[in-house]
Amino acid sequence: MTSEAALDVRCRCGGRLKKSVTEVEFFGIDFGMKEAEVCTECGSEYLSQELMEEVESEVKKRGLFGLERRGRVAKSGNSLVIRIPQEIAKSLRIKRDLPVVIYPSEPKKLVIEVGD
Ligand SMILES: [Zn+2]
Repeated sequence: MTSEAALDVRCRCGGRLKKSVTEVEFFGIDFGMKEAEVCTECGSEYLSQELMEEVESEVKKRGLFGLERRGRVAKSGNSLVIRIPQEIAKSLRIKRDLPVVIYPSEPKKLVIEVGD
């Protein structure tokens, strides 16, 4: 038994993973060059738990301070329509047909919860 067997982690596609340094970018935020495991077959990148947490907290921070957009209420039939800017849709992974719950939380605040 060799130590190599323990490192024999495979990608979803069945390809082998090898350690590599790759440029990490999420939602247009550049996290610089980071260590990741990259599939030698399909190129899928697997990031460490710590890095994913760093990415998540940074995205949350940017979400609060960098993603505010202004818009205007429109009308479609009997409903009022508020467009969701692309950057916000992208950062929250809002896609067509995704279920939402919408409710007023304060006199001038509307909350939209996305996903199940
Ligand atoms: Zn793969």
